[in-house]
Amino acid sequence: MVLAWIERDAQGSPTAAAGEVLATARELGAEVTAVAVGEPGDLPDDLAKQGVAHLVLLRHDLLADAEPATVGEALAGLAAARGPAAVLAAATPESTEVLAWAAAALGVPLATACTGIRPGEPWEVTRERAGGILLEDAVLDAPVHLATLTGGARTTGETAPAPEVGVEVVVPELDPTLPRARLVEHRARASGMTLATAPVVVSGGRGVGSAEGYAVLEELAGLLGGAVGCSRVATNNGWRPHADQVGLTGTRISPDLYVACGISGATQHWVGCMSARSILAVNTDPEAAMVRRATWAVIGDVHEVLPAVVAEIRRRAGT
Ligand SMILES: Cc1cc2nc3c(=O)[nH]c(=O)nc-3n(C[C@H](O)[C@H](O)[C@H](O)COP(=O)(O)OP(=O)(O)OC[C@H]3O[C@@H](n4cnc5c(N)ncnc54)[C@H](O)[C@@H]3O)c2cc1C
Repeated sequence: MVLAWIERDAQGSPTAAAGEVLATARELGAEVTAVAVGEPGDLPDDLAKQGVAHLVLLRHDLLADAEPATVGEALAGLAAARGPAAVLAAATPESTEVLAWAAAALGVPLATACTGIRPGEPWEVTRERAGGILLEDAVLDAPVHLATLTGGARTTGETAPAPEVGVEVVVPELDPTLPRARLVEHRARASGMTLATAPVVVSGGRGVGSAEGYAVLEELAGLLGGAVGCSRVATNNGWRPHADQVGLTGTRISPDLYVACGISGATQHWVGCMSARSILAVNTDPEAAMVRRATWAVIGDVHEVLPAVVAEIRRRAGT
């Protein structure tokens, strides 16, 4: 049996990455049990379409916030009780944290960001390292194999639907005396556009110079129907929230157009934007790595170039 941890979106449906996890779990040839927290909602119907006939819903007051350490503890308890061959999840920050806690509770290793799994004695896995610029072949030798799977590493493919999905509610044993993180506030983005899905991202780095300097990037992103991103320097300086950060320790994006303003193109930033279909760099340094790798570059000061671009777009649009 393989346990597949299901990450759900705001509507409670499995995310695209969770669908890929189910497909990989099915390919391993074992019976697949999907595991989630919360109410069933449409989840059984979604799972049936993916050919999965068994769903375990973990239910406990302490799981109300789906806080990763608590979910990981509950998932580890389920794995210890059921003895699956593997526990798989998407390689998103949330699910990776859940599996890291589960691995710690079970005392087994966790293989993160796997792009391929070859079961055997022991398992062999291929993993993304350094944000995807390196691939590593590794051995996963453990009584239960814990792995997260990189999104987009495989297609979900066609599968015969399951005629019916058995839903089992499991109440995990959780220690109420342990200190736990609590969700105190959930803030939605002002615009409905997320960095990960925006077709255009206008991103700023140290060259923008201040939090106020992002006003013109916001304006340009608005005119282009896109979102604002940033480098880690901007988040470290408190100019932008971490949710805007592009890169190894931020979001990896693949927009149609990435406008990199005053960003040098350090490797840790580059891995986050290298899948963009085209890149426009605005930078004072013609030798900056971002300029050399960009599709187009404007050599100049962001404080002069961006207002001129915004003015020209407005002039052409007659606004
Ligand atoms: C473990 C680890 C993880 C990391 N993860 C990330 C990550 O997820 N994302 C990330 O971004 N970084 C990350 N970093 C940091 C990364 O190494 C770089 O330090 C960072 O990306 C640099 O940001 P920057 O390009 O804004 O600044 P800089 O490297 O200082 O570059 C500023 C650029 O702006 C140009 N410039 C200056 N003034 C102007 C102006 N007025 N007009 C136009 N251009 C101008 C300069 O020529 C220069 O090219 C990570 C580092 C580590 C060690």
